[in-house]
Amino acid sequence: MIKFATRTINQFMQQQKDLFAHYKQPLIKEDSYVTGLKLANSLKGSELVPFIPINGRQVNFYYCGPTVYSNSHLGHARTYLGIDVIRRTLRDYFNYDLLSVMNITDIDDKIINGAKLANQDFLEFTKVWEKDFFSAMEALNIELPDVITRVSDYVPEIVTFIEKIISNGYAYDSNGSVYFDVQKYLADGHTYPKMRPEMNADLLQEGEGESQANKQSEKKSPNDFALWKASKPEEPKWPSPWGEGRPGWHIECSVMASAILGNPIDLHAGGIDLIFPHHDNSLAQAEACFNCDQWINYFIHLGHLNIADRKMSKSLKNFLTIDEVLKRYTPRQIRLNFAIHQYDAVMNYSEEQVEQAISKDKAYQEFFQNTKIYLRESQVTGPQKWTQNDFQISNLLRNTKQVIHAALLKNFDFPTVIDAIDKLINQVNVQIAGKTVRAPLVSSVVQYVNFILGLVGLNYQTQNSNSSDIKSIMAEVCSIRDQVKLAARKGEFEAISNIVSQKQFQYEKNLSNGIVDCINQFQQQVLAASQEKNKQQLFQLCDRLRDEQLFELGIKIEDKDKEQASIWKQYDPKELKLEREQQQKLIQQKELLKKKEEEKKKQEELEKLEKAKVPPKDLFLSQLDKYSEFDEKGIPVKDKEGNELSKKQKKVVQDLWEKQNKLHNQYLETLKKQQQ
Ligand SMILES: [Zn+2]
Repeated sequence: MIKFATRTINQFMQQQKDLFAHYKQPLIKEDSYVTGLKLANSLKGSELVPFIPINGRQVNFYYCGPTVYSNSHLGHARTYLGIDVIRRTLRDYFNYDLLSVMNITDIDDKIINGAKLANQDFLEFTKVWEKDFFSAMEALNIELPDVITRVSDYVPEIVTFIEKIISNGYAYDSNGSVYFDVQKYLADGHTYPKMRPEMNADLLQEGEGESQANKQSEKKSPNDFALWKASKPEEPKWPSPWGEGRPGWHIECSVMASAILGNPIDLHAGGIDLIFPHHDNSLAQAEACFNCDQWINYFIHLGHLNIADRKMSKSLKNFLTIDEVLKRYTPRQIRLNFAIHQYDAVMNYSEEQVEQAISKDKAYQEFFQNTKIYLRESQVTGPQKWTQNDFQISNLLRNTKQVIHAALLKNFDFPTVIDAIDKLINQVNVQIAGKTVRAPLVSSVVQYVNFILGLVGLNYQTQNSNSSDIKSIMAEVCSIRDQVKLAARKGEFEAISNIVSQKQFQYEKNLSNGIVDCINQFQQQVLAASQEKNKQQLFQLCDRLRDEQLFELGIKIEDKDKEQASIWKQYDPKELKLEREQQQKLIQQKELLKKKEEEKKKQEELEKLEKAKVPPKDLFLSQLDKYSEFDEKGIPVKDKEGNELSKKQKKVVQDLWEKQNKLHNQYLETLKKQQQ
C-alpha cells in the first residue's frame, strides 16, 4: 500500500513538473543581485523559485489596476495593499531599484453599460470612479505606482501590437474583430495556457462575458479570444485597419506593460481571479507579438478574499466598499488585518478577525508611546553598564532579525514577521516597565520595529513626533492638573488659586491654538471653583480636561497612583475618537451578552420553580399514556397495557419520585420562610 501511494505521489509530482516544464528560471549572471528571495511563481505552479532580476538591482514590475465603473471595495483593498507591502519590501528591505507600472482599465463592457445607465460619456463616467479608486488608495496609505497607464491613452499602440501579432501569424481579422489563433499558436510549439496548463479545450472558453455566444461563428475555434472588437453603433470606437472598434480586455495589459517596461519583464502581479483567462491571454499575446517564449519571468497572485466565509458579492449583501470599512476602522487597523494573512492565501474577512488587528495596533501604539516616554526620561549620562537584561534583549533583537529575514525571503511571509515583532515588543515592554534595560538599546529596538512595520505601511512615529512646544506645554499642564487634584483632595483651596494664577499659556507658533485655549479655559474654571470651595466641581473639571477637552484634540492623559505624576500621549484625534467608539461598542456587546445570559438563568430558575410546585404525588398521574395504575404515593405500578412494571422500571420511577419529593419539600420550606 505504502509503495503504491508513494508511486502515485511521485507520478503526480512528475506530472506537475511536466506541466510547468516551459518555465525558464532566469540565470545568475556576473552582475546579478542575489538576495536569496524566493517567490511563489504562478508560472511554475506556485512553486517557490529564486528571484533573479534581469539587470542587477533593477526590477521592472507591472500589476493589473482596476476597471473603473463602481466603488472601490474590500477586494481592491486586499490586492493593492498586498502589492503595496510587496513593493515597499522589495525596495526598502531588499534594496531593489523598482519601476512599477499600473494600468487603469477605462474601456470595458461593464464601463460601457455603466456609462449608458448613468447617461454619461464613458470617459466622464470612468473619471468619477478612477477618482474614487485613487482616493481610497490614498486613505489606505497605498503608494502610487511610478507609472499609470490608461487604456484610452494607448489605443494606437494596441493597434500596432495587434498588427504585429497578425503578421506573425497568430491572429486573424473576422468581420471587423480580431481574434487570437490558439490552434496556430500551439501548433508552432508555444504553450497555452501557461499558468493553468491542466485546463482542457472545453474549459478554455474565452470567459469575457458579453454576447460571446453569438460571436462564436466569427472564430476559427471556440478557444480563440478577442484582441479587437468591432464596436456597435452606440459604443466608443477608435479607427483601425479592421474598421472602427475597441480593444479587448486582455490585450491592454500586454501592450501597456511592454510599452513602458519592454520585453522580458521581471515581475507581474494581480488578483488570483485574473489568472485565467486574463493573465494567460496577456502572456500569449505578448509572446506571440515578440515571438519569444517567456515575456514575464515571475508572476505572483494575490489570494481570494471571502467575507464571513462567503464570496463577496452585491447579491449576497456582503459587499463592502473601502469607504464603509474606513468608517469603522482606521487605515492602520485595516492594513494590519491584511498583513496578518499571507498575501497569496485565501483570506476570510470577519469582524472577529479585525478585533485581532485592532488589539495589535493598540499594542504597537502603546509600545512606541511607552518607549518614547522611557527615552524621554532615561538619561544617557546615567549608568550604562550592561546587565543580564540588556544581553537578553540584545540577543532577542538579533534573533528576531534572523527570523524576520528568513520569513521575508520565503515569499514575503508577513504573518511570521508580525508574530516575531509581537514577541520582541512584549519582552521589551516588560523590561521598560521594570526600568531594567539601557536606553540606547531600547532606541535600537524602536528603530528596527519602526523599519519593519514601515514595510507594512504602518508608521507610528511621525504621528508621535511631538513638537517641542507641545512637550513643554503638556509637561506643565500635567503638573498643574496633578497639583490641583492633590490640593483639592486636602481641601487647600487657596493653594489651588495660586497654582492656576501663576501661569498664563501663550499661543506657540507650531501648536494648535485649540490646546492653549482649552488649557486657559481650564485654569479660569478651576480658579472660580476654588474660590467657591467646590471640591466636587474641581474633580469634575480635571476629569473633563482629560476625558473631553484634551481628548478631542488627540491628547490622552493617563493618571497614575496618587504619588506618581500623570503622563500624556499624543495621537491623531480622529483615531483616538474611533478607538473610543470601538471600545464602547465592545463594552456594549459584552453587556448585551451578559444580559442575555442573565435572562437565560432567570428563565431556567423560573422553570425549576414551576417544576418544584408539583407535589410528588401528582408527578405521574397525568401520564396516562404511559401508566395505568399508581400506588397511594402516586408512584406508577402498571404500564398502560396493565402489565406490572419491571424491577428496573420501578427503580426509575421511584428515583424520579424521590427527586421530585426533595425538590417540592425545598419549595415548601422557602414558601414557609417567605410567609414568616
Ligand atoms: Zn491586466
